Amino acid sequence: MSSQADVVERAYAVTTTNYRPAPIVFERGEGMWLYDAEGRRYLDFAAGIAVSALGHNHPALTAAIAEQARALLHVSNLWINRPAVELMEALTARCFADRVFFSNSGAEAIEAALKLARRSMQAVRGEDRFRFVCAEGSFHGRTWAAISATGQPKYHAGFAPLVPGFDHVPFGDAAAVEAAITDETAGVLVEPIQGEGGILVPPEGYLEALRAICDRRGVLLILDEVQTGVARTGAWFAHQHTKATPDIMALAKGLGGGVPIGAMLCTEEVGRGFVPGVHASTFGGNPLVCRAALAVLRTIEEDGLVQSAEAVGELLGAGLDDLAGTVEGAVEGRGLGLMRALAVDPAVIDRGAVKAACEARGLLITLAGPDALRLTPPLIAGPAHVEQALDILRDALTSVGAEEAK
Ligand SMILES: *Cc1c(COP(=O)(O)O)cnc(C)c1O
Repeated sequence: MSSQADVVERAYAVTTTNYRPAPIVFERGEGMWLYDAEGRRYLDFAAGIAVSALGHNHPALTAAIAEQARALLHVSNLWINRPAVELMEALTARCFADRVFFSNSGAEAIEAALKLARRSMQAVRGEDRFRFVCAEGSFHGRTWAAISATGQPKYHAGFAPLVPGFDHVPFGDAAAVEAAITDETAGVLVEPIQGEGGILVPPEGYLEALRAICDRRGVLLILDEVQTGVARTGAWFAHQHTKATPDIMALAKGLGGGVPIGAMLCTEEVGRGFVPGVHASTFGGNPLVCRAALAVLRTIEEDGLVQSAEAVGELLGAGLDDLAGTVEGAVEGRGLGLMRALAVDPAVIDRGAVKAACEARGLLITLAGPDALRLTPPLIAGPAHVEQALDILRDALTSVGAEEAK
């Protein structure tokens, strides 16, 4: 078997250069832990960017995948498969939605949401509305429409012209959304908590205000719950912390627990925009990924992981607040449930160095936005894991701080 260094070198030679992965090759995982090619173990507070909801090698998930692989992998949407039906029922039973479209990623779920919103407005309601009001600092994925909806210039550089029809206003400001709505607006698209933007929680009442504005102005409310959804924030879906429900919602990331699946959910009324043939996906909703996602939802339910994400998330949040109060350059704890971050002053703390120092100490974290160290552990994380992660993070912050003070 080749050494880790050899695989790293080969990876750097063939991977497209948009990626700059850290020089660690992971070979297997168990629960909250990942193991590299040299047998070193890492406590996983990244979860593959808020994806591995049940951690690694969860028996319910691996058994479901193995069993389904033997029964049936794929048939396309020209016929019906039972896991897809059961997953659609499991999703609609847990939220506002009546109808479900499966995609293979978050960006495609957003594409489906935007296409449905335009068609619903134009073909069903007969209103010539095509624009979307979105938030500055948002992230909606990397397809052309998704980057156009994304409110961060760094994702646009070199890709002009973008898809027309996206207007951006400050996140958390409902009055700014209302002011941006015109006769051409089809919908408002926001994340309930901005993820890639830096784990930003909007002010209390924001989603309710957007719901009221959308109703008053006759436009659709679309929520991007790709990162916040599926128990991540201590509710099945983050908007369920509020009284507001959307017309359309996008999911992906944690839904499959590691298999690639996205979903666009909508109300019966808005769903009428999709008539036969207007939108489709070859792989979307295949029995393998749907069976996996079903196992994820059932395990979250049976093991009380929604409640656990809330309770363990509180511990993590309190620990991050404590770091913010005691470590030079640490600014504030942010987030909800197990979607958390420690914001730091980039002029004082080199976030890349902290991330690397965590890795050297056996902890995986990710960066988000201009100033955040993000922690999105699997939903199976317990109090002891949180304590261990906080200890390592404090040690990493202190060591990087000491290095910079030299
Ligand atoms: C990750 C993410 C996406 C894009 O998902 P992909 O699966 O990478 O296409 C969209 N919206 C939000 C909020 C995300 O966090």
